[in-house]
Amino acid sequence: MIVMKFGGTSVEDATAIRRLVSIVRNQLERQPIVAVSAMSRVTNGLLDCARLTAEGNEVEMRAKLDDITARHYQAADDLALPDERESLREALQAQFAELLGILDEIRRQAKVTPALSDAVSANGELLSSLLVAAAFRADGISSERIDIRPLMRTNDDFMRAAIDFEVADPLLKQAFTAKVEAGKVPVTQGFIGSTADGRTTTIGRGGSDYSASIIGAAVDATAIEIWTDVDGMMTTDPRIVPEAAKIKTISFAEASELAYFGAKVLHPATLRPAMVKDIPVYICNSRRPQVQGTAILSHAPSAKAPIKAIAFKRGITVVNIASVRMLMAHGFLARLFEVFNRHETAVDMVATSEVSVSMTLDDTRHLDAVIADLQEFGEVTVERDRAIICLVGEQMKFTPGLASRIFTPLNQINISMISHGASAINASFVVEDAVVAEAVKRLHQEFFSELDEETFEKVRD
Ligand code: ASP
Ligand code: MG
Repeated sequence: MIVMKFGGTSVEDATAIRRLVSIVRNQLERQPIVAVSAMSRVTNGLLDCARLTAEGNEVEMRAKLDDITARHYQAADDLALPDERESLREALQAQFAELLGILDEIRRQAKVTPALSDAVSANGELLSSLLVAAAFRADGISSERIDIRPLMRTNDDFMRAAIDFEVADPLLKQAFTAKVEAGKVPVTQGFIGSTADGRTTTIGRGGSDYSASIIGAAVDATAIEIWTDVDGMMTTDPRIVPEAAKIKTISFAEASELAYFGAKVLHPATLRPAMVKDIPVYICNSRRPQVQGTAILSHAPSAKAPIKAIAFKRGITVVNIASVRMLMAHGFLARLFEVFNRHETAVDMVATSEVSVSMTLDDTRHLDAVIADLQEFGEVTVERDRAIICLVGEQMKFTPGLASRIFTPLNQINISMISHGASAINASFVVEDAVVAEAVKRLHQEFFSELDEETFEKVRD
């Protein structure tokens, strides 16, 4: 068995869904389970509808909802066989009726609670999976849509629910294995689940990748394929460095660093279930299925290059606390982090000296409150408009002289907060946001002007 997950742009209309069908058709002997996202922009559109309803803005809400409705009916009419068209329309209609019922509830309460938000946003996947299953049947592939909610058990932390693996794993395994063994292609939803008492939950934005990996691990799949609209993971952002290359193979550890660092290709939690069961994850482009994507493996063949990718995160704020008195006192850092915890603000990077601590944040919603509390500890200064640059590669730890290869090209650029974690596969530092593009270009030039073809592939000349 394999799991094939198709993202929003891979199900955005009838044309995309036909491409999906032909991609899956080529893999039928591998016993695919198909998991889908909502059509592109639909999750956002549904959440807008919820908000507009709560605000009493019925006109704008209607316009959005009509647009979402029209896209689904259009695709349904394009995809379904004539004698299934009516029943598919009815299934969509029933789903939209459920959605309208939830919007009524939001109207009554005049607010979108997290539970209601999930009950609304889950409709994107519930709708798209109806279309995809019908498209398979229209193409002569025996297929059945599975509502994953009773199988994907979660807690009730709505909008970012955690999976209850002990319950979910056996349910997923049993349900999907039975369908596959009956010769069917099951089509199910990413992103959604439900609580023990049957309330709909979602596992966080972009969570469909994670769902696919959970399903793959539960059924002991031989591969998990993430079908998207890019060729794979890249050495860096091609919008900054046009000669960025595709990474052909990368390890779980390296790919996790990149995903957590904000490389948009994969939801950060995706690799965890796959890693535990050692199931390879492939990133593939549904618009160019002939192109070999990125393979994420437990042991990628060791590259000659010390670095696999250069990632960066912009819009970072650095908070410094200088305190001669307290820094060496025990419990100081714990109390410091307690402040961030209290204000639900995540800290990314930390660097310390004898008399100061520097931390980076990307979420500054509670910054003023954080600063006010930190002033108890010492003198607080804030640097805005910073960026973190992060180099990732397992070979880093075996490469002497790397620091000078990183920092020599960056002369004249101010660098602060250098950190080289214990995993030794990531080196990060902070620069001013204004110079991040220049810094990344120079680093890319240094490390990727000659490519090890076993690991990388030029995308264009
Ligand atoms: N449709 C959901 C979202 O837009 C989940 C996903 O696509 O991964 O966040
Ligand atoms: Mg996604």
